[in-house]
Amino acid sequence: MPHAAVRVLTGGVRLPPMPSIRDLVKLYKLQALKHMSQNFIMDERLTDKIVKSAGRIDTKDTVLEVGPGPGGITRSILRRKPARLILVEKDERFMPTLELLKECAGPLNTEVEIYTADILRFDIAKHVPMSENRLHLIGNLPFSISTRLLINWLNDLSLGRGAFQNHNTSMTLTFQKEVAERICAEIGDAQRCRLSIMSQIWTQPFLKFIIPGKAFVPKPDVDVGVVKLVPLKHPKTDLPFELVERVMRCIFNMRQKYCRRGYSNLLPPENRDEMTDALFELADVDPTVRPFELSVDECLRLITVYAGFIEKYPEVADYDYRARKKPLNDNID
Ligand code: SAM
Repeated sequence: MPHAAVRVLTGGVRLPPMPSIRDLVKLYKLQALKHMSQNFIMDERLTDKIVKSAGRIDTKDTVLEVGPGPGGITRSILRRKPARLILVEKDERFMPTLELLKECAGPLNTEVEIYTADILRFDIAKHVPMSENRLHLIGNLPFSISTRLLINWLNDLSLGRGAFQNHNTSMTLTFQKEVAERICAEIGDAQRCRLSIMSQIWTQPFLKFIIPGKAFVPKPDVDVGVVKLVPLKHPKTDLPFELVERVMRCIFNMRQKYCRRGYSNLLPPENRDEMTDALFELADVDPTVRPFELSVDECLRLITVYAGFIEKYPEVADYDYRARKKPLNDNID
C-alpha cells in the first residue's frame, strides 16, 4: 500500500487514512476497459458535487451505487453516512479497492454491501425491502447501458416494482451531455425526443451540471451531464409502459416531419390517412406540429386514443410497419 495516504475530510465526517483513488488505480493496475465504458473521476470535489446533487442523504437512507469502479463516488457517499450502501459493480477487478473502502467505513455505521453483478439483471427489490426509508440510486453510469438502464427503471417506476416499490426513490445519474439534455428537454426544444417524454411522464428530471470530458480518466470524446430524476407523486398516466413507448417511438422516428406522419405508421395502410386524421381530431392535437413541439399531455392524448382504437380493433395492435407485412385484409378470411 503506498505511503501517500490521504485524509479525507468533508462535512465533518472523516474517513480513515486511505490511498487516493489515483494511487489505488495505479497500485492495482486498474486500467480502464473500453468495453465496460470505464471513465474514472479522480477529483474528490467533483464526486462530492455529484453526490450533493442527490439532495439530502440522511442516516436512515439507503444508497445504491451503480458501477462504483475504484470508489471515488463511493467515498463521497460514505461521507454522507447513509444507513446502507449497496455497490453493484460488474468488473471484479475493483473488488479489492471496494473491500478496502468497506473496511475503512466500519466506524461510520454504514452497512456496506458489495455485489459483483450486472445492474441490468440485479434484483433491487430483493436487496432493498419496501419498508426502508429513502432510496437513492446514484451512478456515474457506463455510457453503453445508461439509456437502457433509465428505460428499464422508468418501466419499473410505472409498475411500482423493483427500486420503485418504495415511494421515496430518486435517481442521480450521469449521461452523455446530449442524452442528459434530451431527458430534460422542454416542449419546443429541438433536443426533445422519446426519452424526454418518457422521462417526463413518470419523473421530474433536473439537469444539475455538466462535467467536461477532460475531468475523466481516460477522457471520453464527449462531456457528461448529471441528471437527477425525481419520480412524480402522481404519474401523468397509468397507460402501459410498452404502449407509451411504442407510440412515442413511431412519432419521434420521424422527428423532422409533421407528427401525424410517424403516428400514422401505427396503422395499417388501408385507410391510414383517414384513420390518422380521425384519431388526431379525437385527441384534439394539431397533426401539423413537429414531434418536438408536442406537450406531454398531447402525447398522452394521442396514446389514449390509439389505446381505444386497438381495443376496438385488436389486430391493429400487432401491426408493425417495419415488418412490411401483407395488408391486414390479406390475413382475414
Ligand atoms: N464510479 C466510477 C467513477 O465515477 O470513477 C466508475 C464509473 S465508470 C464510467 C462505469 C463503471 O460501471 C465501471 O466501473 C464499470 O466497470 C461499471 N459497469 C459497466 N457495466 C456495468 C454493468 N452492466 N453493471 C454494473 N456495473 C457496470
